[in-house]
This record gives sequence, structure tokens and C-alpha cells, in this order.
Amino acid sequence: MADDLLPFDDRDGFIWYDGRLIPWRDAKLHVLTHGLHYASCVFEGERVYNGRAFHLEDHNARLINSAKILGFEIPASMDDLAKATQDLITANKIVDGYVRPIAWRGAEQMGVSAELSKIHLAIATWDWPSYFSPEARAKGIRMVQSKWARPAPHTAPVHSKASGLYMICTLAKHEANAAGYDDALMLDWRGQLAEGTGANLFLVINGELHTPTPDCFLNGITRQTVIALAKSRGIKVVERAIMPDELAKAQEVFLTGSAAEITPVGEIDGAIGHYRFTPGAICRLMIEDYDRATGKKTVASAAAAE
Ligand code: PMP
Repeated sequence: MADDLLPFDDRDGFIWYDGRLIPWRDAKLHVLTHGLHYASCVFEGERVYNGRAFHLEDHNARLINSAKILGFEIPASMDDLAKATQDLITANKIVDGYVRPIAWRGAEQMGVSAELSKIHLAIATWDWPSYFSPEARAKGIRMVQSKWARPAPHTAPVHSKASGLYMICTLAKHEANAAGYDDALMLDWRGQLAEGTGANLFLVINGELHTPTPDCFLNGITRQTVIALAKSRGIKVVERAIMPDELAKAQEVFLTGSAAEITPVGEIDGAIGHYRFTPGAICRLMIEDYDRATGKKTVASAAAAE
């Protein structure tokens, strides 16, 4: 069976759980866990390149801040998190993969209130080649507008990478997949362009990068990396409110995320209109620069090495 089809609770290897490495299959929790019932849970997603998690410090700082926003403290320091992650990657012999730290309120209290609950922390890592299929990435993925909107900042803790915020992402992604698309495009509560179900959005308009201001969704670490890479190339980057009809002005569109990396978009459909894009020079340049930053072999450098 291909690795990505193996059930996630039945694999070989180790998981770091509340301070120590334990066999993968033993990393369990009780059904009366607060995090499961009330989504008092935050997590991260990092990519491993050549045996090291990319931008690990930024992810761990965001994990600590996500928990703070939900009113709890991660029971580990930045140093503890860095060491645990590296020990885990080594123990599982991961070269190119993914890391998933997760923290949640335990089972000491059941009910909305949970101040006395214990905070648990686990970290897992696994091999994970590409988020979207290589064919979809080459042509640009197909996206469809979701009926679900990113919530307003006063209706949800939008700057926390909190599991509760992913409820609508899963619904949106399932609907998109059922309709034959690769991902869903989410607008925000004002009707402005927001993001994909697990990645930020960029438009290329006349050689400039335009990207929605992250005021009600994650300011992705990959998004910030791409902005810095573009600026160092002398490409102008504009963060602003973008209405969907501006997609008509875009020559290229792409998504950014730790898992999705830089993924070109070929198509966006929905009530907002039907838009087609061809991955072009700026997409390619950003992919090359990002791959260089991560140390990943680009298609071009892999071909040259053969
Ligand atoms: N938005 C959502 C909803 C996400 O899940 C992610 C992935 N964490 C991102 C944006 C991109 O964030 P990052 O680049 O930090 O992975």
C-alpha cells in the first residue's frame, strides 16, 4: 500500500508525546478529551527538507502564540520544541516529509469551561511528497469558490492555527473534490478574496504580486517567505483588499503554504465568474527561488544532476 494510504494510527515509527518518544501506535487519547469535543486544540505543519524542518522557529513561535490566543500555554519552550522535532525526525529517518505538532486540552474537565485541564503536546512526522498531484501542479490546480467564508475577526480567533477553524476548510475541500476540483477558494465575510483551504493566495498583475491582507486568516509563513523573495528580486508586492472580479486582471495566480509550497492555479470557477490562468514566468521564478531557499531539488536542477 502506498504510504499516503496507510491509516495514520497504524504505522511504524515514533511519536513524541508529552515529553518522550513512544511507539507510533501507542500515541492515543481518551474519548472524553476537551480538545476533541470543544476544539481547544492548536497545531502546526512544517515541511522537512533534507532532514530538517524548514522555518522551524517561526512555526514553533506560531504554535506558542496560537495556544496563547486560545488561552493556554504550550508545555514546552522554544528550545524544547526544536530539540523534540529534530530528535523525532532523526528517530523516524525522515529526509523529505512533514511535521505535525499539536497541543490540546485534556480530559480532566468536560464541559465548555476547562481551565483546570492539563495541556498535552505531541509531535508526529511522516514522509509526504506533494500536497497536490504533480500533474495538477504542472498545469495549475483547478479551484472552485466555496459557499463558506473566512469568519470576521470578532467571530473567531482567526490568527490562531486552531483546529476549530478547519471545520469549514474540510467542508469546502470535500465539496470542491466532489465537484471534480482540486481545492476551494474561500472569500472572507466581506466578499473579498481570502485563501485556499490550506494555503494563501497570490495574483500576478502586470509583473507585480498582489495578495489579500491577512486580517481574518493566517499570515502564512510561506506567504511571508515568498513576499521577501519577491522583494529581493525587485518585484513589487502589494498587500491589499482584493475583490474577486480583479481575478480578470491577473495573468497568473498561485497558492503558498508549508504543505502546498508554491502551487500554480490554472482555473477558478464559481458564482464570482470563470477565470483561467497559465502558470508563467513569475510562478516559475518564485518556485525556483523557494526551492533554492528550502534546499529542495528543483525539476531543473534534478534534471541537470542526472
Ligand atoms: N491558510 C491556511 C488555512 C492554512 O492551513 C495554511 C497552512 N498552515 C496557510 C494558510 C499557509 O500557512 P503556512 O505558509 O504558514 O504553512
